[in-house]
Amino acid sequence: MRNRRTIAAALSVLALTAVAACGKEAPKSDDSSAKLPTYTVKTDAAVSGSKVFEEAKKRGKLVIGAKSDQPFLGFENVTTKTRDGFDIEIAKMIAADLGFGPDKIEWKTIVSANRETALKNAQIDLYVGTYTINDTRKQSVSFAGPYYVAGQDLLVKATNKEITGPESVAGKKVCSVTGSTSVKQIKTYNPGTVVEYETYAQCVDKLLTDEVDAVTTDDAILKGFGAKNAGKLRVVGKPFTKEPYGIGVQKEDPAFQQAVIAALKAHEDNGDWKKAYDATLGLSGSPAPEIPALTN
Ligand code: GLU
Repeated sequence: MRNRRTIAAALSVLALTAVAACGKEAPKSDDSSAKLPTYTVKTDAAVSGSKVFEEAKKRGKLVIGAKSDQPFLGFENVTTKTRDGFDIEIAKMIAADLGFGPDKIEWKTIVSANRETALKNAQIDLYVGTYTINDTRKQSVSFAGPYYVAGQDLLVKATNKEITGPESVAGKKVCSVTGSTSVKQIKTYNPGTVVEYETYAQCVDKLLTDEVDAVTTDDAILKGFGAKNAGKLRVVGKPFTKEPYGIGVQKEDPAFQQAVIAALKAHEDNGDWKKAYDATLGLSGSPAPEIPALTN
């Protein structure tokens, strides 16, 4: 089984290299931005009855909460102060339809545990960052989505043969993030110890130094870290939950929520979603899935 996985991983690396090597259109592996779509910024955007929109217009900036440590999803290059990833693209699409170009976005890094509070206290206008839609969260925030469905999985050292799924974490140290669905769900599987940090990047550091045996969260997140640490880490590959991602918005502003849903739908329908996926999350090794139907 392990050999098969190793071969599969090697083949997918070869396939990626082959794609990059042939065809004029293919970007260099270090130049993924070449394929990123650009979004036309609406000059006549209006959201009648939305306080969040009116205040953003007045201040001239849309304040977006995001992750900064998740490769291919929500990542901040601290040197260039630029952000990239699938969630960042989703945020930019929405912003463009609301009349805010990339230079009119103010990004705020918000970790998993602080998302609801940031929205409730109106510190951000919307949140885009691997944010699972669920009923508990819906008591304090609203969502637009789902725009992607992930599943919880495990990330281990490439040499680890013992951890094969959530049933095999008994007696093991598993790391996850405070305030996430992942940390709650892994506790139902009876691991030895659950270690909690603020970010998944911190967990991955602990895995690389053997202070924990596994990191658990959404496969989409883990694949990004796996790709960045190829040969050292591997994703187990048996997702055991469904994590529908939504854009978090303030609960008291249904007009704004509807505007975000409409923007998302427009960019799914015109092909931007797929282009953005291929140029970001798709680079961590998984082809674009079907776009889930919008229900929120
Ligand atoms: N999607 C899960 C959640 O919303 C885990 C990833 C995260 O913490 O952002 O809790």
